[in-house]
Amino acid sequence: RVINPVSTGNQEDALERALRPKLLDEYVGQEKARGQLSIFIEAARKRKEALDHVLLFGPPGLGKTTLAHIIAREMGVNLRQTSGPVLERAGDLAALLTNLEPHDVLFIDEIHRLSPVVEEILYPALEDYQIDIMIGEGPAARSVKLDLPPFTLVGATTRAGMLTNPLRDRFGIVARLEFYTPEELKKIVTRSARLLNMESSEEGAFEIARRSRGTPRIANRLLRRVRDFAEVRADGTISQAVADEALQMLDVDSAGLDVMDRKLLSAVIDKFSGGPVGVDNLAAAIGEARDTIEDVLEPYLIQQGYLQRTPRGRMATPLAYQHFGLPVADTQDK
Ligand code: ADP
Repeated sequence: RVINPVSTGNQEDALERALRPKLLDEYVGQEKARGQLSIFIEAARKRKEALDHVLLFGPPGLGKTTLAHIIAREMGVNLRQTSGPVLERAGDLAALLTNLEPHDVLFIDEIHRLSPVVEEILYPALEDYQIDIMIGEGPAARSVKLDLPPFTLVGATTRAGMLTNPLRDRFGIVARLEFYTPEELKKIVTRSARLLNMESSEEGAFEIARRSRGTPRIANRLLRRVRDFAEVRADGTISQAVADEALQMLDVDSAGLDVMDRKLLSAVIDKFSGGPVGVDNLAAAIGEARDTIEDVLEPYLIQQGYLQRTPRGRMATPLAYQHFGLPVADTQDK
């Protein structure tokens, strides 16, 4: 899918890292999160304290990892990175925590997928910079309290609602990342084009921006695919016409919806007469994981007004019918 069109693995990852802004001032958009963070970072630095724990939530590719790195850099500390599913045993987390230096940032991606035993270790670490670990086995086993240096946990998750309450309560700063506007994405595309030495016109950059599902990661990936197209089929410059042709070839339609978006919407309309349909039925109908629907597909379709979430399930909106050139169904009596 377009989130990862023809991924070339490590090379793509390296490019993604190269395009990552390093300072808060280079980070485009997200005014609210950026405003909050810049104040809290400055205050913590003035007091020579660790920054309070930060929870970042929002769909994939909106810049959570980037922001975690920026926080560490602005604080002038190291960043250690791990993810919820990787930390299987309490000892894995204990080892990470005891190796932190004062004020370091520990970044845990997919923090909603921490196992309960690991989460238990995290509570006192976050609250009192202490952990309890078990030493030895059987009757000789005893629990030892270890002091940790003050540190900052930056947790990232796609949906804040998936965190347990006690974990969520331990974050002093909670920031929700929003989809980017086409104008913001245009700035990102233009910056990336410059860093990658590409020729692009304003209109070409905007065409990619407005068809990137409000997501910087997608915008950067599409930019590279469009460049390939521009080099092979045109003179290398990304004009609006070249961008449009390349995006059509990549199955991103003129409204910026990709194959999976259209598959989901047409399933709701054709197979479930416009809904309401439960997410599990929808997942089965389009052969996609429920999590992908809830984390990746739905948020953008809802934000753009193609899909509605009701207590009885998902419903296609009149805009979705219009998108496919269908007469708008009478949804009043549902
Ligand atoms: P997430 O962790 O939310 O999945 P990432 O932080 O990995 O997303 O961001 C994906 C890519 O998008 C990064 O490589 C970066 O180049 C780009 N990006 C994300 N947010 C921004 C931003 N605000 N400004 C510029 N580029 C961004």
